[in-house]
Amino acid sequence: MHSIEALLDSCSTIFSHLPYPTFLTNKEGNIVWWSREAEKHFGYTFDDAKSEHPPLFDNSLQGHFSSILENQLHNVEPIRYDSVLLNHSNGEQSMASLLAKSFTFEHDRYVLFVIETDYISNSEASSFLELQLLKKNLSESFMILYLDKEGLITHANTHFLKKSNWTPKRILGKSFWQLFPNTPDNTKIADNIMNVLNRGERFHGAVEKTTKDGTNYWVNLLAIPVTDKKNHTLYYLLLEEEITEKKLFQSRLEQIAYVDMETGLMSRHRLEGVVQEYIEEKRNFSFVFFTIDQFYTLKEIFNDQTEAELLIEFTKRLKVYFEETTIARIGRDEFALLTPLSDWYIQGFTNYLKQHPIYLNNKIVPITISGAITKYPEDQQSYIHLIKASNATIQKVKQGGGGSIVSLSQSDQNRLSRTIQIEKRLLEALNHQDLHVMYLPQKDVQTGKITSVEALVRWEDEVLGVVSPEELIPIAEETGLINEIGNFMLEKCCEQASVWQSKGFPIKVSFNSSIREFRDKNMVKTIRKMLQKYNCSPDTLIIEITEKFALEAEAEKSIIQQMQTLQADGVSFVLDDFGTGYASLRYLQLLPISQLKVDKSFISSLLQQEKLQSLVKGLIQFGHSLNIRVVAEGVETEDQFTLLMQMGCDSIQGYYVSKPISASEIESLLNKETKTVKNI
Ligand code: C2E
Ligand code: MG
Ligand code: MG
Repeated sequence: MHSIEALLDSCSTIFSHLPYPTFLTNKEGNIVWWSREAEKHFGYTFDDAKSEHPPLFDNSLQGHFSSILENQLHNVEPIRYDSVLLNHSNGEQSMASLLAKSFTFEHDRYVLFVIETDYISNSEASSFLELQLLKKNLSESFMILYLDKEGLITHANTHFLKKSNWTPKRILGKSFWQLFPNTPDNTKIADNIMNVLNRGERFHGAVEKTTKDGTNYWVNLLAIPVTDKKNHTLYYLLLEEEITEKKLFQSRLEQIAYVDMETGLMSRHRLEGVVQEYIEEKRNFSFVFFTIDQFYTLKEIFNDQTEAELLIEFTKRLKVYFEETTIARIGRDEFALLTPLSDWYIQGFTNYLKQHPIYLNNKIVPITISGAITKYPEDQQSYIHLIKASNATIQKVKQGGGGSIVSLSQSDQNRLSRTIQIEKRLLEALNHQDLHVMYLPQKDVQTGKITSVEALVRWEDEVLGVVSPEELIPIAEETGLINEIGNFMLEKCCEQASVWQSKGFPIKVSFNSSIREFRDKNMVKTIRKMLQKYNCSPDTLIIEITEKFALEAEAEKSIIQQMQTLQADGVSFVLDDFGTGYASLRYLQLLPISQLKVDKSFISSLLQQEKLQSLVKGLIQFGHSLNIRVVAEGVETEDQFTLLMQMGCDSIQGYYVSKPISASEIESLLNKETKTVKNI
């Protein structure tokens, strides 16, 4: 039999059983075999189909077919082409996917096409073309992003890449949150957009974004959940148009005119000057600071317009209640008042709001506010301190659930002024390298040897005296100075670990890290650089994270990724203060943790409480079941040590081994250990 006939014969035997229209072309693209199913489906006989211009392909798509063929001839793998428009003999059109596979038969190349059809009518086909056109035009005019339901980027168009400075490869898998400036407000805005999308609604509004290298820009964002026929969300589509110029212009205008454009109130730029004038005129006044509770999660605000309406309605109520008072808008949902009115009158505003609710789209918006009253000159004496004190009070009100306006108590004021002082002096201490490090050894229960030391920050200030880490760390976290402390500790640890390495002490060094440091996208780079600077092996470095850190990291993919990268380098992670609160154990599976440190609060009353003993024993077994080493911290007595040893604890840390001591004292301890071994 002639070779081509043999081939066609085989095709008829094998492929005519397929329930799909199927055809075969030679390398020129001429159809040489046409299945019965194809004939039935499209209405063309083989003779019609094999003509020089196959009627199957729409004229506008002839070029498309040639490129499919060209592509296919150079590829041995089967390739699928989606959304190809095909003609039927009755004039209808259908959209189909083509599965194509090329092969060589007797020195000639052929391509087999299997067609998966989704029959659509003529009108649907034209709306499909319209959609394609729309998509093309949108992509030429807007920045476009696709997100999966977790908020991870699955596609970005060239406009977006150009503006944001990401490369096509790098942007994939980045989280939606990474596109926003790293501030609490912007994180809340991003959370809100995600919540709106997750509810299946659309978001439209102006938001601030950031490029890969941290330059901020403003866009008008339209975010849409794309659903299937059953209304299940498939992915999210984001269309963005840059409006930085407009925003800058608006902000310049606000600065010049001292007016907030959205509400007509005094702007924050002006407020500082007015406070200054009041102070110079020696006027007594209350500085009142209001924020709207849960502003970013209010369901009723899903676009710029509803947000603006809400703010205008709120402003109206402020103006009526606080007649002839200086009122300023100082943040998205933050307002400040300067008033001689009494506390009880100011506090009455919450009731007034209840009696005069705000309506949006004919529905009541259930808003409440948190407020702080700080008095000049009794409580604070400068603009910046009035603001700081108000912020601190507001935080307290919010922690208590919000909904009230309170004034600062005397003890709060004392604490606050110490906080303000700590902030001020910490900055100097960091500049002058006044912080230092003490090391807390950790002993292996089996070998009795010191295997690692934990670096703890120490600060004794000439004015403030000793500032304990418990006081210092929360303040540093609040002000952002934690990053500086973190860098200082990282450098000291690497330097010290490298010294010990070169002296032949097989000892690891750990340091405590806060989530805020890991939000810095350059954390991996910073750590690698520091390890390199001191020629320090990554496996001598251990990072301690708290349960609170773990809980937050669990929700932030970029943090998990940074931790995994570091782990791959050899750095290990310890979960510190284990058992103190957030009982979600899911993060133990998600995060690369190799050690658990049972919190010292469990150990201190271990001997007295039997229930605690079962609990700690359980924790140890639980750790071991996950192949994680278990350390007990805060071990102070021999009895505690013996009990923990019996329970199978791997390592201990605490005053029973040693208090935190200097690096040279650690060396003496290590030297003593080696001598003891030699003597044996
Ligand atoms: P931590 O990481 O759990 O550190 C252990 C704390 O327990 C240290 O307190 C240590 O001095 C103390 N301790 C150790 N053994 C015993 C004992 O047997 N009995 C008692 N009562 N206490 C013991 P320190 O140095 O005051 O640190 C307190 C916390 O502050 C640390 O808890 C850690 O969370 C944080 N911290 C310390 N230094 C840093 C730092 O450089 N960066 C960060 N982010 N946090 C730090
Ligand atoms: Mg620790
Ligand atoms: Mg601890």
